Amino acid sequence: MTAAPAAALPAGITELAIYEVPLRTRFRGIDVRDGVLLRGPAGWGEFSPFWDYDAAESRRWWAAAVEAAVEDWPAPLRDSVPVNVTVPAVDAERAHAIVAASGCRTAKVKVAEPGQTAADDRARVEAVRSALGPAGAIRVDANAAWDVDTAVRRIRELDAAVGLEYVEQPCPGLDELARLRRRIDVRVAVDEGVRRSADPLRVDLREAGDVVVLKVQPLGGVRAALRVAEVHGLPCVVSSALESSVGIAAGVALAAALPELPFACGLATVALFTADVSGTPLLPVDGALPVVRPEPDRLASLAAGDGTAARWRARIDEVLAA
Ligand SMILES: [Mg+2]
Repeated sequence: MTAAPAAALPAGITELAIYEVPLRTRFRGIDVRDGVLLRGPAGWGEFSPFWDYDAAESRRWWAAAVEAAVEDWPAPLRDSVPVNVTVPAVDAERAHAIVAASGCRTAKVKVAEPGQTAADDRARVEAVRSALGPAGAIRVDANAAWDVDTAVRRIRELDAAVGLEYVEQPCPGLDELARLRRRIDVRVAVDEGVRRSADPLRVDLREAGDVVVLKVQPLGGVRAALRVAEVHGLPCVVSSALESSVGIAAGVALAAALPELPFACGLATVALFTADVSGTPLLPVDGALPVVRPEPDRLASLAAGDGTAARWRARIDEVLAA
């Protein structure tokens, strides 16, 4: 479906399609994912900032979508990208099943979900360890939920139970991450601390993190994310912003272009969708994604309803005016 916003679109954008798809499990507080796909001379790009992000913060997401549609991405240095299975804050039995079905050798497990307990997290990571076997890698993501003392306690407990590859954004502030890092042996990966900062190139990560999480849309595109990687000089992991295969393809392009890729990437999240915009979705085979750009040939069946479509058109107008 084509939906024209009131404001002028960038040159070369010939089509907008708005999709809406239910998730298999509630994730990041949402049950349905929606977004806009832009078509241009280079292909399709995805614009899907979460609804709790304002127009100013959404501008980098728009830049990423426009880059994908009108520019070429940097040349790939590899033809496949190792990925982790993402385990939402589900019960232990479900966590085991998700990991076992994934074929991935690395798992990223959501922890510190509001309303859940330390015992819930522990049961979930133990189930993941049992599904992965001793050779698999487990990382946890707390989405900035803990204060430093809680983080120290919980990370030590989870690390002792299953062994952690790293912990992603355990506390909100970079100063807190720095204090935490001095008290634990597990690596700290910085996600929100980079992507939600006013200038991801200028944040000082030297004391705060061991790993940088790169996400294409929040950082403003593949090229912008490569600059972030270069400036910080830390090992990088590419993760998705819970996108359709069109958005995931941009993450894959970034991961394929990074000079070094020491960790599996968080790009297997199309598995969290009940359907995809493409008939050949970017789902992992043997723990890796191919470096390809799927055609969104199933858009018609996932076209958003009128209310959602109108909301996105208004949002694009707001971002273009910001
Ligand atoms: Mg994260």
